[in-house]
Amino acid sequence: ASGYSLLRDPHHNKGLAFNDKERDAHYLTGLLPPAIFNQDLQERRILHNLRQYEVPLQRYMAMMDLQERNERLFYKLLIDNVEELLPVVYTPTVGEACQKYGSIFRRPQGLYISLKEKGRILEVLKNWPEKTIQVIVVTDGERILGLGDLGCQGMGIPVGKLSLYTALGGLRPSACLPITIDVGTNNEKLLNDEFYIGLKQKRATGKEYADFLHEFMGAVKQNYGEKVLIQFEDFANHNAFELLTKYSTTHLVFNDDIQGTASVVLAGLVAALKLIGGSLNDHRFLFLGAGEAGTGIAELIALEMSKQKGNPVEENRKKIWLVDSKGLIVKSRIDSIQHFKKPWAHDHEPVKKLLDAVKAIKPTVLIGTSGVGRTFTKEVIEEMALLNEKPLILALSNPTSQSECTAEEAYAWTQGRAIFASGSPFNPVEYDGKQLVPGQANNAYIFPGLGLGLIMSGAIRMHDDLLLAASEALAKQVTQENFDKGLIYPPFTNIRKISAHIAANVAAKAYELGLASRLPRPENLVEYAESCMYSPIYRNYR
Ligand code: NAP
Ligand code: MN
Repeated sequence: ASGYSLLRDPHHNKGLAFNDKERDAHYLTGLLPPAIFNQDLQERRILHNLRQYEVPLQRYMAMMDLQERNERLFYKLLIDNVEELLPVVYTPTVGEACQKYGSIFRRPQGLYISLKEKGRILEVLKNWPEKTIQVIVVTDGERILGLGDLGCQGMGIPVGKLSLYTALGGLRPSACLPITIDVGTNNEKLLNDEFYIGLKQKRATGKEYADFLHEFMGAVKQNYGEKVLIQFEDFANHNAFELLTKYSTTHLVFNDDIQGTASVVLAGLVAALKLIGGSLNDHRFLFLGAGEAGTGIAELIALEMSKQKGNPVEENRKKIWLVDSKGLIVKSRIDSIQHFKKPWAHDHEPVKKLLDAVKAIKPTVLIGTSGVGRTFTKEVIEEMALLNEKPLILALSNPTSQSECTAEEAYAWTQGRAIFASGSPFNPVEYDGKQLVPGQANNAYIFPGLGLGLIMSGAIRMHDDLLLAASEALAKQVTQENFDKGLIYPPFTNIRKISAHIAANVAAKAYELGLASRLPRPENLVEYAESCMYSPIYRNYR
């Protein structure tokens, strides 16, 4: 191949880091200025440039350009500066990028499968240049973060999630495939936008939607085999639960909004018990929001309680209550609620408002998953503080503007007694001379390690026990030093090590359950996980 095309191939390009021998051997001499930079110097240069941008979206675009130009440098930068760059390549900035995807569009990333390709999805998959795929993240763009239907412009989400799979979980970039399924959009603004990149038609629903997804799932299995992990991302809840159930017996499927969230939140709860005391079974949980996140978390808590106590899940569900947009979910509503809420319809008189539900249920743990901000009011939090010595309060709705309350409010309204974590990050708070550090229940703690565990064991099906295994491994990574600051999650700086431990625990469980196909089982799974991880360090080209 010519030197010119080598410089334009992001998988192999090293820019100024090509040394003289490489420049000679690969016809690069003269195509680069004489200076030779090492990867560290290149990294410092890019980071310096990124920090000059005031506008987050400019940072996002600079990162995407780098990914398209020099993949290894992109991943080295992301891995070495994960806390700073996670919010750039993922939430919140990726949200804005999706909203403006049409106008910032440069080179396409990922694979687009639209209704126009009905009947020939397999052919489309074959256009993707990589043949060995281990993880697919797929969206239909209907519920992007808390931003609603962004149609085809949701592509930023699978692209961003998969770059975290590589950076945090060590999956090879070439084995990751981002896919956006375009079945139309109901977003009027996009339908009238001349720069919109998707199909300009209303969303397909019902049988047309189901058949198209079915063709897609079949084609994926036919093309990539049994072991490819398919992560559903940011589907609206009227499709998300159904797709997950429907394909869980024939494919290796995972929904991060339901299952990943559940696993990461359960880990935080288990860790928090060290601070508030008792076992899971001793607590009572109240959720505001009964969708993918709320019911997903609730179900995994009930399951973990059963594992600990050896009693039926149904019994434990009674300690968990959920409020949706119409009030507390109770028996009398059972005929008019969606099926995923039905297990949570307990015996109680109707209660409309959250404050009244808190008074009636007397929860020890309050969890916000409604997507609506400012809903944990002063009265609500004060009631929690009245009921509990150390109220556990999780304000999980994203982005920051939708958070149920701020960290400062949670601490102030409980005289500093609350244990608080949120979906979007908050800065540490000074209270009464003490520094309190709010935790962030970020799904990025779980899915990269979980994915690595599934891939390295050759798992062929998902199982709830694997979510529990991931959760348990994460909770174990919280140190006494973290607890002393009020943290219920470990810092992100060690995320690759954390991911290796999660992967090992997940793989161990997959072997135990007979779901693993990579045999024999490696003896030391943590070491094995680490040895599987992609390294972004440049290679020598001779
Ligand atoms: P979803 O499936 O659409 O569910 C939203 C739920 O909130 C529904 O049950 C809805 O009630 C309820 N709701 C809406 N407005 C309400 C109101 N004013 N009062 C009470 N309940 C209300 O959404 P989701 O996927 O679960 O996501 C919800 C939120 O959680 C989002 O903001 C998301 O960013 C966040 N989240 C955070 C994490 C994390 O921290 N790691 C992970 C995942 C999601 P109806 O059913 O009656 O409409
Ligand atoms: Mn999501």
